[in-house]
Amino acid sequence: MHQLSLAEIARGLNERQFSAEELTRGLLDRIARLDPQINSFITVTEELALAQARAADARRAAGENDALLGAPIAHKDLFCTKGIRTSCGSKMLDNFAAPYDASVVEKLAAAGAVTLGKTNLDEFAMGSANESSHYGAVKNPWDLSRVPGGSSGGSAAAIAARLVPAATGTDTGGSIRQPAALTNLTGLKPTYGRVSRWGMIAYASSLDQGGPMARSAEDCALLLGSMAGFDPKDSTSVDQPLDDYLAALGRPLTGLRIGLPKEYFGEGLDPKIASAVLAVVEELKKLGATVKDISLPNTQHAIPSYYVIAPAEASSNLSRFDGVRFGYRCENPADLTDLYKRSRAEGFGDEVKRRIMVGTYALSAGYYDAYYIKAQQIRRLVKNDFVSAFEEVDVILGPTTPNLAWKLGEKNADPVSAYLEDIYTITANLAGIPGLSMPAGFIDGLPVGVQLLAPYFQEARLLNVAHQYQQVTDWHTRAPAGF
Ligand code: GLN
Repeated sequence: MHQLSLAEIARGLNERQFSAEELTRGLLDRIARLDPQINSFITVTEELALAQARAADARRAAGENDALLGAPIAHKDLFCTKGIRTSCGSKMLDNFAAPYDASVVEKLAAAGAVTLGKTNLDEFAMGSANESSHYGAVKNPWDLSRVPGGSSGGSAAAIAARLVPAATGTDTGGSIRQPAALTNLTGLKPTYGRVSRWGMIAYASSLDQGGPMARSAEDCALLLGSMAGFDPKDSTSVDQPLDDYLAALGRPLTGLRIGLPKEYFGEGLDPKIASAVLAVVEELKKLGATVKDISLPNTQHAIPSYYVIAPAEASSNLSRFDGVRFGYRCENPADLTDLYKRSRAEGFGDEVKRRIMVGTYALSAGYYDAYYIKAQQIRRLVKNDFVSAFEEVDVILGPTTPNLAWKLGEKNADPVSAYLEDIYTITANLAGIPGLSMPAGFIDGLPVGVQLLAPYFQEARLLNVAHQYQQVTDWHTRAPAGF
């Protein structure tokens, strides 16, 4: 049963081939047996899962048949879950049980999804390797000596290892798409404002967006239909009608105009990844798409701009962790200043401290214009690149990452080399447009991801293209050996 997709699970439950409780027990058992190898869960919510599964079975017995009713999922451990530890991968919140559910958690629970647990992540979602978690690194099920990507690396590894069919993630600069690429999954970062951020612990508020991770585009469509939508509790949530994501999957791709940005195929890209990506383009052409070379000239400025804006917002957001209101507090503080200083020094890890320092510096009176304002101006240029490109093409296609999954520890001494792994994903967050990564084959046994980008609110188009591709290929169905 652990190989089933969400769509297949819905059919199986509907036809009473198995119950949600049986399915849940089977997966909880796999987590207990296999997760010690990959460390993808921080908390397993066994009691909650079994109670939700029984409730789902009762609702099905009473005649309900919504697709997610009884579907097992997991939440990245930065979505608040009422009464359950919500750690953000940090010692700072190790003792924090959220007093309420995030809107995404609430919506999926209302749809009948069964929460198996909370997944590991880079501390406060800062990272590309899932090595900065207080709970230890996550390992890539395709090669246990390699990283699964980050920051939603726990969600990615859990799905790839068939411990859960789908999970939530968040993406500030690539944290859904990049781990999806490195573990052979489909992951979608929706348009900024499409999915509520209420109850999603903030990293960089103008960039953060929650989204679905699963093996197929169809499963992402199923999840997104429940996760997305206007939320009056999030002032940046957008009040615009939702598309029928499932219905859109079947549309033919005839006439689809694909743009290939020359900046996404240049220096720094592993040539084997470039060939795998171009093979996807050939498949899409066979399905009726046309291809055009385009340019996104400000791509090279995206990383420097992001690494001013994201730390600036993080330094402000993380000021609430002061040892007073909630979370970690140091022992025997001498006075209030000592309490603040030591609680933060002891509660946060190195990468988080690095970002707080960079962000505080960029926002300081003397440097604000030189760094923060400049970075915001570049952000506008990056957005304008996309607006012009989408006058000529319907989707933009390229690699999700410049390299394959790297060895654990390999980039620890040089954080900037890890920052560079986000070169193709960060621009979508700066602009606020939606992006999707999908499996595109393997190189030396390691998964390759292709990224598709679309204009604002065109999530349905991304899911449609990915689904059509997945109808003629089977990369997304492949499982790592041993799982
Ligand atoms: N790797 C990027 C960072 O460290 C993106 C992380 C994310 O999307 N949460 O900021």
